[in-house]
Amino acid sequence: MDRQSAFSYRCNQCGRCCHNQAITLSPVDVIAIARGGGISTGDAIARYTLRRGSLLRFLPDGRCAALDGVGCSIHRGRPLACRLYPLGLERDGGRERFVALEAAAGSTGVYGVDGTVGEFLAGQEIDSHLALSERYRPLIRTMSERIAGLIDFAAIEPREFWRRAVAEALRETSFDRNRIIEAIFDADSYGCARKSIAATVAAHLPALNDLARHETDATVIAVAAVLLAVSLGYSPSEAISAANT
Ligand code: SF4
Repeated sequence: MDRQSAFSYRCNQCGRCCHNQAITLSPVDVIAIARGGGISTGDAIARYTLRRGSLLRFLPDGRCAALDGVGCSIHRGRPLACRLYPLGLERDGGRERFVALEAAAGSTGVYGVDGTVGEFLAGQEIDSHLALSERYRPLIRTMSERIAGLIDFAAIEPREFWRRAVAEALRETSFDRNRIIEAIFDADSYGCARKSIAATVAAHLPALNDLARHETDATVIAVAAVLLAVSLGYSPSEAISAANT
C-alpha cells in the first residue's frame, strides 16, 4: 500500500498486540522512550530493550516490558513500530511500502477502509519520527567510507569480513563491546542529553560522525554500521553496499 491507499484501524485497547512481537528500535526510538518516560537513554536501554538497545524487550510470558495491564507505560514515547501498528513499513533505498500486518491473536482492533494510510500516519505523528530516524542514515555511509580507508579489501576477503560483521551485529547475547554501538543507542551517556528528542538528535549526530571518523578498528565500525542499518529498518546490505560504492 502507499499513502493514498484506503485504510483505517480502530484500536479497542485490548493490549493483545503488545505480546510476542519482534520490534526493532532505532536510536530515535530509544531517545523517545527516554524523553517520554523522563529517564535517561541508558535506563531506557536497561529496562526496555535487548541487543544493545536495538530490540524492544518482551518478557518470558510474552508481554512487552513496557506493558502495564493493557496499557503502554511509555505511550508518549512509544517506538515507531508501535505507532505504525497494524501497518508495517518496508523500505528499499528511498522507496517505502506499507503492509497491513496480521491481527494479533485475540485482538479486538477493527480494520477498515474509512480513511487512507496517509491519514492514519498523520494521526500517529509518524512522519516527524521517521524524519528524525532518517537523519541517521548518512552515518552508515560515513562509517563505510571509514572502513574503506582502513581496510585493504584486496588482502582481506570482503564477503567473510561482512559475514562476520553481520553475525556479530545481530547477536543478542555474548557480543563484543562496541563503543560506537554504545554511543549510537545511549545518546545521553555520550554527552548528548537534551530536553527534546529533536535537540538530542541534533547533538547526537555530529558526535557520532566524529566518533566514526576517529575509530581505527574497521571491525568495530562495520558491526556498528550493520546494526545501525537494521535499526533504521534497512537490511544489512545497506551498510555493505555503501562500502562497495
Ligand atoms: S512499547 Fe507500548 S505500544 Fe509498544 S509493544 Fe510495548 S506496551 Fe505495546
